[in-house]
Amino acid sequence: MKKMPFTTLLIVALLIGVITLLVFSNQKRSLLKFMQEADTIQYKCSVSRASIPNKTLLENNEQVRKFLGDFKLVSKEACKCAHMDMLIFHKGKESLMVSICDHCFDIIVTPAQNGQHSVVEHYKMPDKLYQRFKAFQVDWESQQQNADNNSTNF
Ligand SMILES: [Zn+2]
Repeated sequence: MKKMPFTTLLIVALLIGVITLLVFSNQKRSLLKFMQEADTIQYKCSVSRASIPNKTLLENNEQVRKFLGDFKLVSKEACKCAHMDMLIFHKGKESLMVSICDHCFDIIVTPAQNGQHSVVEHYKMPDKLYQRFKAFQVDWESQQQNADNNSTNF
């Protein structure tokens, strides 16, 4: 076998690099597209607070788009922080889980199954988006408390 010239190797390496980059930016784009086209967003608290069941936070695509605003996926390193809040984007029968905190937006690309760990992509949580989320959460929790108070007054 003839030895491959250095330039050929360089071109092959470059091509692999470009393809990897394209695959990643393509996945990012399709993840964002999925979220923007979602019909509903469900909120889930991963710590059991008995009075707070899973809740549909946003009920239609118009609300979802307003909520996301000009949100863009900006990659970051994984943190070791503990998350309590999960957003589940639903579009038709498909769904996408995102674990969030005030600075993380971690998309669970493949949920854990058959003893395999989940595959997670780590993105930055923009301040504006987190503030919108908190506003919904506070609003909903106060509604929930009112409902609880009413139900104890028989
Ligand atoms: Zn975090």
